[in-house]
Amino acid sequence: MKPIKRYTIKPICILLSVCYLILLTGLFSRVSAQDLKSAFPVKGYRETAAKVNDLVHTKLNVRFDYKKRYLYGREWLTLHPHFYPTDTLRLDAKGMDIHTLAILKNGKNIPLHFSYDSLSLNIKLDKVYDPFENYTLYIAYTAKPEELKGRRNNEHGLYFVNPDGTEKDKPTQVWTLGEPENNSCWFPTIDKPNQKTTQEISMTVPGKYVTLSNGRLASQKNNADGTRTDTWKMELPHSPYLFMMAVGDFKIIKDSWHGKEVSYYLEPKYAPYAKDNFGVIPEAIDFFAKTLGVDFPWNKYAEVSVRDYVGGAMENTTAAIFGNVSTRRELADSYYNSGMEHELFHQWFGDYVTCESWSNITLNESFADFGELIWLEHKYGKDAADAHLQNGLQNYVDRQDARTKNLVTFYYTNPKDPFGITYSKGGRILNMLRNYLGDAAFYKGLHLYLATYAFKNAEVPQLRMALEEASGLDLNWFFNQWYYGAGHPVLDIRYQWDEAAKTQKVFVQQTQDGTAFTLPIAVDVYVNGVKERHKIWLRSHSDTLVFKTSSKPDLVNVDADKMLVAEKTDHKTLAELVYQYFHAPLYLDRYEAMNLAEKNADGPEAQRVLIAALKDPFSGLRRKAIWALNQNKEDIRNMNATLRDAALPLLVNITRTDPNNLVQADAINTLSVLKDPAYLNLFRQRLNSPSYSVSGAALNGIIRIDPALGLSLAKQFENDNEGQLSQAIISVYADQGGDAQWPFVYQRYHEAEIQNQIHVSKAFSGMIGHLTRPEAVLQGIEELKQVAIRYKGDGVAPFMIKMLDSIKDQRTRLNDAAGAKASADAIQQINDAK
Ligand SMILES: [Zn+2]
Repeated sequence: MKPIKRYTIKPICILLSVCYLILLTGLFSRVSAQDLKSAFPVKGYRETAAKVNDLVHTKLNVRFDYKKRYLYGREWLTLHPHFYPTDTLRLDAKGMDIHTLAILKNGKNIPLHFSYDSLSLNIKLDKVYDPFENYTLYIAYTAKPEELKGRRNNEHGLYFVNPDGTEKDKPTQVWTLGEPENNSCWFPTIDKPNQKTTQEISMTVPGKYVTLSNGRLASQKNNADGTRTDTWKMELPHSPYLFMMAVGDFKIIKDSWHGKEVSYYLEPKYAPYAKDNFGVIPEAIDFFAKTLGVDFPWNKYAEVSVRDYVGGAMENTTAAIFGNVSTRRELADSYYNSGMEHELFHQWFGDYVTCESWSNITLNESFADFGELIWLEHKYGKDAADAHLQNGLQNYVDRQDARTKNLVTFYYTNPKDPFGITYSKGGRILNMLRNYLGDAAFYKGLHLYLATYAFKNAEVPQLRMALEEASGLDLNWFFNQWYYGAGHPVLDIRYQWDEAAKTQKVFVQQTQDGTAFTLPIAVDVYVNGVKERHKIWLRSHSDTLVFKTSSKPDLVNVDADKMLVAEKTDHKTLAELVYQYFHAPLYLDRYEAMNLAEKNADGPEAQRVLIAALKDPFSGLRRKAIWALNQNKEDIRNMNATLRDAALPLLVNITRTDPNNLVQADAINTLSVLKDPAYLNLFRQRLNSPSYSVSGAALNGIIRIDPALGLSLAKQFENDNEGQLSQAIISVYADQGGDAQWPFVYQRYHEAEIQNQIHVSKAFSGMIGHLTRPEAVLQGIEELKQVAIRYKGDGVAPFMIKMLDSIKDQRTRLNDAAGAKASADAIQQINDAK
């Protein structure tokens, strides 16, 4: 069911008009935060945080206690009442020890009364302050982020990596992650997106480390005790969740854009790959600035890669943080990247203009996703962008909340909750808007929005107004439907040709529950090889489109721009889709045709599509064609003989000549299913590819034909392997190897990221099951237990318990009572872990 649209006018307007009345009648001269809060007591409704006081400037002096994982902070916080005079102030400060809280008067600290419940400070100021009358507090505190209870792994704000230096081969680092409201774990602030403040952070760190924060490095001072104090100044206002710090042994590689510093902070061992990973950034800044007609708004742009990052990446103003970067060899398997451009686009959408509340987070995240889309289109072409659109649409449709969540949601428990669909659905909604308005009007509207709300906050209606002003069109219908309503159209499309009347009818039904969507779409009608475009509005649950044509169309392509956020069942015939593959222009045209061809792979027309798709200009569709060959009848061995005979020489050719390494690897993986010794030489040649994926696929192919040979060849790659190559080595070692291979397998598993650990856990636990040395068995069991406990909150535990259960059975069969007991104990400890 499509829920009733809750708000076309946000209740905050009611609140403002009440305040207006109060002013007129002069009943009150000041209001406390509590008064404002109680003005709208609807349960569960997340109103925009009232601005009783505004942050003006935040000055921090911090140093780190690596041993205790504490931050010792001194803060000078300047604020003023927003509109109403007030003598109270509430600050967010999570899990801190507050040592001094005073107001600065004539150079002296005058202590203030306050109460503190470990989450917020309620402060009684020394007097009633008038609107815009600045005052400065001094707060001395200890932040203890790791000791905060009841918070998710990514909700501690400040993180220490290997602070004692006990983990071999791991650097010592400190870094932060503020969004949504976690920076108040390391400095007292009003931790809401509708606050903006300038900033100055002085970090005192061991002299050997490099620091990074927002803005410019204003000074560096060496101290007598071997430490150094770096002062970073951010002279333009931004929101507290965008504050950042990173401290570690980083090498700085400098670049520039129009005279502004662009820099990359990496661990020294990754420094040679800085430009490979980040080198496109100046081009991307240029592209975004030109597209938006708004220059990059900040004084510099830095990107830092840190260890063990708990978010994907974070768009801190002028200083984005990422997880691990890739080596050049890993990058050989990496295509159509847009993650860095996501964070970069946030520098405009999020950092420069910020969502007023988390309910409006779509104003940040949907734009960042959209930024990825237009970057892909610009850099790699429309097919790559359309593949990104399609993946995102699928992610959205597969979500449990796809039919119930609005893009703008006012009801939530955790401020992270409204983020959900704003990426996958929201990015596509913006793309529909661009398509409807046309690029020129759409970007003029974005320019207007950015110019109007620069260094301020916005709500979704303000985006609508900017786009309406630019285009002259009313967009209420669009925003009500897509931002304040849930779900999406589910379309059933049928066709009927009337030969006598020379009329083509198209019946489009919207089968979703609730009201029908209003959908402007393009329909392309192809007759005798000529395409005619029709612009049409769908408005009801059942629309009939009628086209008069000279003869039966070869194809009617509904939603010809492949633009709709919708689920579609399109009853085209195979012949029409074959025509579509070869004549319609877009990635999705070909993708849809391939879907039906896969299901009809025994017929010549479908085979024509699949064979052609092995040479499709877009690598994503070549991969799809290869997967289709392997999956259609379980695997290629059972494939229709005609198709297989046509495909095999092409696959062999692809393994050598395809420009995309992932396509090569897929072709090798598909051929290797045949276990045909005739391919052994081919696989041996491809083993030395610079691509880990190709090399790994080749090793896997050899293992399938000759496991003993695979085992012996794997050894030469022990010192340089990642991704699919690591997996191939681990799987052959786990299956064919024994105690001699265990140290390698253990080390690779131990060092791997959690996703890769999960990927090879079955092989890893299989090996533990048949090892001989008891210490190795116990070491493996301990490792699985640790991973399960560390990621229990992320749902990893049940999977690891399954692995341990199978180890227990295997050890029991080998009469290894100690190994079996250790597995049972590990399971118990995982279950008991918090
Ligand atoms: Zn984002």
